[in-house]
Amino acid sequence: MGTDNRGLSTRCVHAGEGSDAHGSPHTPTYTTTTFAFPSTAALLDVVEGRAAGSLYTRYGFNPTVQNLEVKLASLENAEAALAFSSGMGAEMALFLAHGRRGIICLGDAYGGTLELLSQQLPQLGIRTALVLGHESARLSELLDDGYGLLFAETPTNPVLEVFDIKVLADAAHARRALLAVDNTFASPVNQQPLALGADLVVHSATKYLGGHSDITAGAIMGGQELIAPIFAWRKNLGTTPAPETCALLARSLRTLVLRVRQQNETAQRIAEAFAHHPRIRRVLYPGLPDFPFHGKAAQQMAGFGGMLTIEVEGDAATAAAVVDRLRLFAIAPSLGGVESLATQPVTTTHHGLSDDERARRGITGAMIRLSVGIEDARDLIADLRQALDG
Ligand SMILES: *Cc1c(COP(=O)(O)O)cnc(C)c1O
Repeated sequence: MGTDNRGLSTRCVHAGEGSDAHGSPHTPTYTTTTFAFPSTAALLDVVEGRAAGSLYTRYGFNPTVQNLEVKLASLENAEAALAFSSGMGAEMALFLAHGRRGIICLGDAYGGTLELLSQQLPQLGIRTALVLGHESARLSELLDDGYGLLFAETPTNPVLEVFDIKVLADAAHARRALLAVDNTFASPVNQQPLALGADLVVHSATKYLGGHSDITAGAIMGGQELIAPIFAWRKNLGTTPAPETCALLARSLRTLVLRVRQQNETAQRIAEAFAHHPRIRRVLYPGLPDFPFHGKAAQQMAGFGGMLTIEVEGDAATAAAVVDRLRLFAIAPSLGGVESLATQPVTTTHHGLSDDERARRGITGAMIRLSVGIEDARDLIADLRQALDG
């Protein structure tokens, strides 16, 4: 885990793999809900925390769940990790465990996160503040006011704004606040927030970690001391993932580095191919040298990711027509899978916002967000070309 010096690809394959009496090369799937003990004393050792062991699956005390968590921790070089039944499950447990002094969300965030922070958590008396990137002066005021948790996605959805994680960590720590980074878009292959000073990392494992659009899961990584209170919430929120999901996620993670590196490379090729296309106003991609956040991204990211946004010349109807002509890219929200997807943020992730609110966030109807899969780059480029020219 924290002391594992092997490379990320090696850890993806080998971290947290348990064998069995039959010689399985990886952790078998224990669908078991409860585990038997040889004696009452042995049961009490696990219940009272003197011995690690399997006990009850909702607690996460199940070898398939726990071995996955060893692998998840290893991905972010963290002391500990918890798996969840969804990304939102992970965020909810994080906010309840560490958000009681107040939560600041910096920048655009996932729709569910914004809903939780703006509508639901305030009903529980938790104060929350949503601050956009260009309003960062407010950030200091809120931290001075005692807000205890700073939460940010970087790069953001869909405009790929990049925040300097080290700067945010320093600002939070100077006021005894914690920094949690949603690392879903970048993935641990491209960005290691804990190494840059963040206290906790959150993932929707439904995206790159799962990578095949066939599991819903989440994860949190960090130091044991911060993970412990989150564990207590997960246990009684009941948001531990099913062992079957954990086994699928562990299988997906073995190929994480291969997938994401390919997605980085193909996204870069697509971004370059369309940067100067006559039907395209802008390509937003951190890997393009003239992208406003390129410098910051180059500083803190090992790769620029598989997400890019193109803004076509025209309006929302023009963009919809382009999307509707795509054949290889599927029209779908979500991201991070091996298959390429396209969506207009105005029809999905940012559908509920007013025009003014979208304008504040720099989101236009002419934007198409692409989640680049692992198909051949030339096929994806040809598909986009025919859709734009059509
Ligand atoms: C999808 C997503 C979430 C929510 O994850 P679920 O697994 O759908 O609950 C949170 N943050 C980001 C950045 C996401 O893309």
